[in-house]
Amino acid sequence: MKNIWDEEAIRKEMERLDALTGLSGAKLPIKLTDGEHVIGCYHGDKDGRFTFSKKYFFDPDWAEEEALDTIRHEYAHYMEHMLYGIGGHGTTWKMCCAKVGASPVRCYREWKNDYYNNKRAEKERTIKGLLEYKEGDCILHPKYGKGIIIEIAGEGVSQTANIEFDSVGMKTLSLAWVHENCKKQ
Ligand SMILES: [Zn+2]
Repeated sequence: MKNIWDEEAIRKEMERLDALTGLSGAKLPIKLTDGEHVIGCYHGDKDGRFTFSKKYFFDPDWAEEEALDTIRHEYAHYMEHMLYGIGGHGTTWKMCCAKVGASPVRCYREWKNDYYNNKRAEKERTIKGLLEYKEGDCILHPKYGKGIIIEIAGEGVSQTANIEFDSVGMKTLSLAWVHENCKKQ
């Protein structure tokens, strides 16, 4: 099972970083937000707090090392704030990154855009592929063998197909799954 990064999991990583730095970042409030525009943020107001985007941290497809790097990146902002009283992506922040193992070069905004642009492009490619299917088409299922598409229902990537197989009769399958796993004949 892939990690879902809930508050507890994020805090756990911060506790590990606290042990390295002698700070108390894991004790700060952590808020998980619905926003897509900021993956993570350290707010230096009051005693400091973190926000992270659920859109990424609850996405099981999102790579674990990117989640960890985001946490460390924001922690480095916290650390710089505590040790030097400043914020940004300058020299002292990079020193903090080195200490907590955060990549000091990545720009999270661009990173985010890449991730979601790729995801969107992939979805569009799939939808385009699904347009090739129509009722009466013949497909070859890896297990059930030959089948004929009787009906296609739904929209976009969530379309389903009722397929009549010689071997097992009528089955309802996700059209995207058919597109990926069956041969069109
Ligand atoms: Zn930053």
